Amino acid sequence: MHFEERTIKVIIDESKCVDCKTHACAAGCTLFDRGILVIKDGKPALSGDEELTKRVGTECLACEYECWFRGNKAITIEAPIPGLEEYKKKYGVV
Ligand code: SF4
Repeated sequence: MHFEERTIKVIIDESKCVDCKTHACAAGCTLFDRGILVIKDGKPALSGDEELTKRVGTECLACEYECWFRGNKAITIEAPIPGLEEYKKKYGVV
């Protein structure tokens, strides 16, 4: 599954969630964000619709952190930085 907040995209490889024992992503979301990520039928799911998620999500990245350190490393977050490619080109950063 994947979903978007205002500027980021959260991608979850649900095949890794099947034997997850912590479901730490949802706990982290409740603690540091607004509980937009919950567990339904043993897998992460949105607590509301996509529009609500995009509006209220704080882009705290807690789900990714918690999953990588306490879950099964199933979450990847794409966080584009406007101007980064131009900056790298200008200063020769690879
Ligand atoms: S912590 Fe990671 S592996 Fe576990 S349910 Fe959440 S996304 Fe899936």
